[in-house]
Amino acid sequence: MPTRSTKHIGASPYSTSHFQDSPRFGNQYLEDSFLQQSLRRLVTDETTFAKYEPQLEQLGDRVVYEMWPLSKQLNVPENQPRLMQYDAWGKRIDDIATHAAWKHMHVAAATEGVVADGYNVKEFGRDARLFQFTKLLLYAPSSGLYSCPLAMTDGAVRYLKLALGEDVSPVEESAVKANFQDMFKKDPSLEAEARRVLAHLLSKDANEFYTSGQWMTERGGGSDVAQGTETIARKQPDGSYALYGYKWFTSATEADVSLTLARIESEDGTVEEGSSGLSCFLVNVRNSGTKELNNIRVHRLKNKLGTKQLPTAEMELCGTKARLVSQPGRGVASITTGMVNVTRIHNSVGACANIRRITCLARDYSHRRRVFGSPLSENRLHLKTLAQLELNYRACLAFTLDTVSIMGRVETARNKTDILGGSGVAGSILSAESASLLVRILTPVLKAFTAKVSIASVSEGLEMFGGQGYIEDTGLPTFYRDAQVLSIWEGTTNVLSHDTLRVLAKSRFEAYTVFEKLVRERCTMPTTNPVIKAAMDSVLAALDTITSFLKANFAKAHTVEAVARDLLMALGRIGSGSCLIEHAVWSGNVVDAASAKRWCCDTPLVAFLESDRDVKVDLDRALALDLDPISGSPRFHGNVDARGKERAKL
Ligand SMILES: Cc1cc2nc3c(=O)[nH]c(=O)nc-3n(C[C@H](O)[C@H](O)[C@H](O)COP(=O)(O)OP(=O)(O)OC[C@H]3O[C@@H](n4cnc5c(N)ncnc54)[C@H](O)[C@@H]3O)c2cc1C
Repeated sequence: MPTRSTKHIGASPYSTSHFQDSPRFGNQYLEDSFLQQSLRRLVTDETTFAKYEPQLEQLGDRVVYEMWPLSKQLNVPENQPRLMQYDAWGKRIDDIATHAAWKHMHVAAATEGVVADGYNVKEFGRDARLFQFTKLLLYAPSSGLYSCPLAMTDGAVRYLKLALGEDVSPVEESAVKANFQDMFKKDPSLEAEARRVLAHLLSKDANEFYTSGQWMTERGGGSDVAQGTETIARKQPDGSYALYGYKWFTSATEADVSLTLARIESEDGTVEEGSSGLSCFLVNVRNSGTKELNNIRVHRLKNKLGTKQLPTAEMELCGTKARLVSQPGRGVASITTGMVNVTRIHNSVGACANIRRITCLARDYSHRRRVFGSPLSENRLHLKTLAQLELNYRACLAFTLDTVSIMGRVETARNKTDILGGSGVAGSILSAESASLLVRILTPVLKAFTAKVSIASVSEGLEMFGGQGYIEDTGLPTFYRDAQVLSIWEGTTNVLSHDTLRVLAKSRFEAYTVFEKLVRERCTMPTTNPVIKAAMDSVLAALDTITSFLKANFAKAHTVEAVARDLLMALGRIGSGSCLIEHAVWSGNVVDAASAKRWCCDTPLVAFLESDRDVKVDLDRALALDLDPISGSPRFHGNVDARGKERAKL
């Protein structure tokens, strides 16, 4: 017979016998079996990996036991960055005060080589990028967003290396030549400055390590810098430039250096409009002697939804001394040659890292939280939701590491026809040249795709904790807020969808052809497993749909533009699905096979708006702008409402 018992603990009515045990997590490398397996599949040199792996294990510990408690301190409002515009005597100083924990993240980043390891080709060969980004994956979710300055720092390293003609892979040679025309070699003082900065950006000594900002966005536009950039650059007698302008979003405002765009003023005081008027400049944020800001005024720190640990400012350049680091008018081309790919990959790794952290905490919590008499870990429906989170992580991680691995191989290729084979990895057909096209198309797709999956996953992940997921003290809401920015900075989803179309058009479809070839190769790998076969068939069918859609419609700009986002997402699902398939074939593990099938077969890989084809109305315009069907004009817009009242401002 069941017995009924009532526990009395003390007299207080607020006492209870139940205090929920909090979720726990341990070494983030050792507890991530899929990550370890993926690295084993992707590394090109197992001996080097065996030597490097202890570093991953060590960082896996450090991020949990040392950095995580510090990153929680950064969530506390009083510990977040503050702008001190004046000193006690009224002098304008515009200092940004950051917490000791934030400074600690700088030390950890430097000493772990979260940027530097990616360039240590001498020691790590073709796997340098793979190793570096694995460190970032571990570091990011415990770093209190210090990963953001690191993304921009890595971008600046890549930029300066290309500008100096260092480690330029043969496939980048022509673009690098056009952007820089040996300008660094011709100007010894510019070369010396670039080398000085580069040495700091790559230092593993925390006292020497520099971070870099990227000040691109102005009030007129972040996506459209060609039209939005108003900053002008006036040439100085010593050959440097003085910059004047207002930068609307500058994260990592307390960085040591920054890259920025401006328009060079000609002698008659005019500037060239559009993209061809933009040049790229390198700025030292503070003067070397006095350590005062380099004619920069920080007007305010942004009051943001998330990323509150990270100082993001509006700043004015009031004659900021800068060096020209691109050919005049080739600023946009120069930043898009190597830098943009790098920062987008950082974003994707950050997206994976968020999913991973929330999933591992939710998994642990499922063992600790009981509902209706049993732990959540025994509840079928809860398990299904948790499984989807883990699958989202695996799909995004496999896709990201694959892209990282290809990028690393392109960067270290010796000639254009270098074959980028791996240890049992499909892709043996790729020459360095086609792999570089692949990286070009994959990076916008990967960035946008992983960002969206991450936002949805973190939102779902919070729900796995019930009410506690909504409580600030747990630290969980920070993940939710911070995830939201992943789809905005480094290019919004629609901007990246356009970028994908641009890559297709510019490469005359070659970029898509390479992608298609690689995916087909993965989906025709020998297997007798019917589960994997089903996943392969689904991906191949989706690929056929896309190929025929592109063939039939690419000339019709309007049709393709309207589905550009659907196309990007389809490429993301197909790309990630093909990576899961490759992993499953490689591992022979039944869970990997079933995961690939679930990802590739249970939700449509391609979702184009086919049903609109026979409809005689531009449904997008009609719905988006709420058009009046008779006049065809937007019903409510402008400054005055239907009753003649001024419409309220946001
Ligand atoms: C927390 C945070 C930190 C940031 N830090 C930095 C920084 O350090 N340095 C820096 O330079 N910038 C930074 N940014 C700015 C960020 O990069 C821009 O906000 C972003 O690029 C979008 O630009 P925008 O704000 O001008 O939006 P807009 O470009 O005005 O976008 C508005 C809408 O228009 C859409 N859109 C724009 N163009 C197109 C198109 N061609 N087709 C279809 N839709 C389009 C967008 O998708 C978006 O939905 C930061 C932003 C945030 C939120």
